[in-house]
Amino acid sequence: MTRENIDVAIIGGGPGGLAAALYAARGRAKTVVFERGIPGGQIVTTDWVENYPGFPKGVSGQELGDLLTAQAEEHGAVIRSFSPVDRLEIADEGFVLASEGEEFAAKVVILATGAVPRKLEVPGEAEFTGRGVSWCATCDGALFKDKVVAVIGGGDAAVEEAMFLTKFASRVHLIHRRDELRATKCIQERCFANDKIEMHWSRTITQILGQDGKVSSVRLASTVGEPDEILPIDGVFIFVGVHPMSELAAGLVELTESGYIRIDHDGRTSVPGLFAAGDVTDSELKQVITAAAKGASAAFEALRYIDSTTVCTI
Ligand code: NAP
Repeated sequence: MTRENIDVAIIGGGPGGLAAALYAARGRAKTVVFERGIPGGQIVTTDWVENYPGFPKGVSGQELGDLLTAQAEEHGAVIRSFSPVDRLEIADEGFVLASEGEEFAAKVVILATGAVPRKLEVPGEAEFTGRGVSWCATCDGALFKDKVVAVIGGGDAAVEEAMFLTKFASRVHLIHRRDELRATKCIQERCFANDKIEMHWSRTITQILGQDGKVSSVRLASTVGEPDEILPIDGVFIFVGVHPMSELAAGLVELTESGYIRIDHDGRTSVPGLFAAGDVTDSELKQVITAAAKGASAAFEALRYIDSTTVCTI
């Protein structure tokens, strides 16, 4: 098997990985981004991003993903789409990684593998996935025109996506396990002003029921001791948090109990030469802007690391 030499290998093409690619490529490092799907990260499944600076009216998640990708490429980074990395090893002079049957030797690696939506783990969820159960309002919302849907969760994702779904659905039931939302206050205010959204406080979904192979209702349990109820709906959108995609790093770097990669202020992991950025790390704030900022820091430190370990022969 041939082995291509690169300076900076970035695993994951979301905002963290793409910002790292921009900074590494501008530092004249041979930079390759390995993205398992299409570049852009979780934001490409988000209808509208309104808290990324420089876009006063907001920007579509897809457009922002495309712009971040184009900017990294413009400065010389190579973005390999549909190139999952299935092996990452520490080698004598850096790292070896394998993707799609090819091997690469990299001086440094930046892990920016992001996070994926968590499952609810209730009966009916697996059975009706793609038949009324979804984790992506941008992808599937239009299928529910004039229908009734339930959204579960109380964070930014659940509340924003519930509002997006009101573009299509005739009614959106927002189901949250507590009596107050976790979402950012300005997002909450807009949600409460939207008369297509009906709040169900202190409730969880304990079962997803179906008829004729499609979702037809959900069973709601009370977290404050009230009786169960059956809510007729046509679709369920699940936004109950995310799970870090740190499997590749497990066994190599130090992880938190929840599986996030521990990094220091500058994106260093517990392994010299291995950096991390974005939603896969234990950084508190999970936003596009923080992922991008941490990507820039990680790339900056990665370039310094390469300089510090390169023997000058002139
Ligand atoms: P999140 O902030 O972790 O919120 C998850 C929500 O799901 C919480 O309200 C939680 O309830 C609820 N939940 C968790 N497990 C549950 C279960 N088993 N049953 C019922 N409910 C459950 O996750 P997120 O909304 O997906 O956001 C992930 C990260 O991305 C966050 O840092 C968020 O700020 C960020 N994000 C930002 C934006 C934006 O800035 N516009 C948009 C989307 C996401 P409790 O509240 O009771 O814990």
